[in-house]
Amino acid sequence: MTGQKGSLDNLSINFATVRQGGTFGEIVDACLRHGISAISPWREHVAAAGLEEAARIVASNGLKVTGHCRGGFFPAPDVAGRRAAIEDNRRAIDEAAALKADCLVMVVGGLPKGSRDIAGARAMVADGMAEILPYARQAGVKLALEPLHPFYAADRACLNTLKQSLDLCDTLGEGVGVAIDVYHVWWDPDLEAQVARAGRNGQIFAHHICDWLVPTTDPLNDRGMMGDGVIDLPRFRRMIEAAGFFGPQEVEIFSHRWQARPVDEVLSVIVERFANVCQPGASPAAA
Ligand code: ZN
Repeated sequence: MTGQKGSLDNLSINFATVRQGGTFGEIVDACLRHGISAISPWREHVAAAGLEEAARIVASNGLKVTGHCRGGFFPAPDVAGRRAAIEDNRRAIDEAAALKADCLVMVVGGLPKGSRDIAGARAMVADGMAEILPYARQAGVKLALEPLHPFYAADRACLNTLKQSLDLCDTLGEGVGVAIDVYHVWWDPDLEAQVARAGRNGQIFAHHICDWLVPTTDPLNDRGMMGDGVIDLPRFRRMIEAAGFFGPQEVEIFSHRWQARPVDEVLSVIVERFANVCQPGASPAAA
């Protein structure tokens, strides 16, 4: 089940990490040059390539798609806006199905423009998820709610803890789980219990990795390379595996620093760090 230490079978690259790498096909080629065959593309990459062509590249190279990024953004100030979000999510589900993605990652959205009602926004998220879920089930696409660090509650996601996300999963039922991103949840005192809970219910759909830098100069675009920050990644992975999830660790680093470097250099560093600081048996001090 688990790859051997450093095996690249269990390493996935989120396209946000190598945005500078060009088109869908060019980023795939770069990953393949480094022995990486699992990817997580963004909708804009897929749209630019064309869905059929993207699906063809995935199939012909035997790639695993660990997630399609992303659905969500349900809250809107009016009914028309909320309807448009539902329609857009249906299209995202179609794309995830065509790519045979493990899940559609859901960044659920924050406050509607002009609103101070976070409870209302959260209700819109629950309603939106309930509305698209039958469509996702029919398409065979799993929906992975991604709780985001509370910093993003206003503008990106009003789901901010694993517990809150799992409570919503439990309300919605079959076909909904979580994407657990170390960046967003590493600080949570309830983390271990909630990861175990997610595992018991088969609700862990993805494991995203990067690191939390001290200081973090830009909460959106200053995420760290694994090993450069304060997250105990081996311990985190042990927790995830103890909960029964052995799927790939997906590297998702939004960073102006790393995006200024050549893609091959970034991927070389990722492969090295993956082997040395991300494995469950690694010492957190190895970096
Ligand atoms: Zn993530």
